[in-house]
Amino acid sequence: MSKSKIQVKIGNITIGANCPVAIQSMTSVSVLDKDATMEQIERFERAGGDIMRIAVPDMPSVAAFRAVRAQTRVPLVADIHFDYRLAIAAIEAGADKIRINPGNVSEAHLDKIIDCAKANAVPIRIGVNSGSVNKDALHACGGDRCEALAYSLKQYLRHFETRNFTDLVLSVKSTNVRECVSINRIIADWGYPLHLGITEAGLLNQGLVKNSIGIGSLLLDGIGDTVRVSLTADPTEEVYAAKDMLVALGLRNGITFVSCPTCGRCSVNLPAAAQQIYDYVKDMNVNYKIAVMGCEVNGPGECSDADLGMAGANGKFVFFKKGQRYKTVDSQYAVEEFKKEIDKLTNAD
Ligand code: SF4
Repeated sequence: MSKSKIQVKIGNITIGANCPVAIQSMTSVSVLDKDATMEQIERFERAGGDIMRIAVPDMPSVAAFRAVRAQTRVPLVADIHFDYRLAIAAIEAGADKIRINPGNVSEAHLDKIIDCAKANAVPIRIGVNSGSVNKDALHACGGDRCEALAYSLKQYLRHFETRNFTDLVLSVKSTNVRECVSINRIIADWGYPLHLGITEAGLLNQGLVKNSIGIGSLLLDGIGDTVRVSLTADPTEEVYAAKDMLVALGLRNGITFVSCPTCGRCSVNLPAAAQQIYDYVKDMNVNYKIAVMGCEVNGPGECSDADLGMAGANGKFVFFKKGQRYKTVDSQYAVEEFKKEIDKLTNAD
């Protein structure tokens, strides 16, 4: 359960306090290309994403954002930098949340954004990045970067609170995993929902590792209400990575998928079978454990607590249900046959 005390509603999704951790991503195409944006949002939704963020860098993008907003139920966050007028226009265009860095706008303009968000009941994510650590804050915190980032965020937070605006999500991101974890541990006690992510985490493999360590460590401590697994990859990959992380931590329904690394005992094309089965189950939102193992030596033992398992044996696959062997299938038919068994299991709910 999250440490946050305040709930924030973003379209039809509520985060914070006792709510499930929501998965976010960001479109990687210009919102001016409506078809490409919609295509990414639709794939994101099918993959199990909850909240999509869109960059809104200029006024033509606001008009495009409005058009996209009209075509989807997925909660949309307008990502704004520098120009307060874009934030106000995006709110009026139907944004379910806006994301700003308060350090990028003057106080007077920030107040205009706050007033507009309040009038429209639109929450704001206020974020600071480690790259923009403020020199005064650094001095006030004796050179401690984590304390300085938290200090900066607190200053902004106080400003919102003095204007009686608490419909907030907080985020402090860093490319440095340790730093990111440390800062979020500091701000977790403030009660607001937190958006977690390792910023600019890199390509798929490197990004998965950094995000899993950083976001995973915090989630294990009950910190975090929404996550973005930032990857230099298709936004859908970010959703599958976030889902796998949340399922692994028991924070979301989904298939727990187990497959072995294979070794000299394996007599079947296990990687191909495992990939096909994983692709078949990855969009399912039910709690089952599926195991795809390479041999009969360790396979049965290792999939004994799986709801369904298959293990290679002399060029064939042996199927297991709750650890009990129940049939053997030629490897060329095994994947399709196993999918039917998965359907029987999941349709029985
Ligand atoms: S399940 Fe069998 S094939 Fe797979 S790693 Fe273990 S011993 Fe090797």
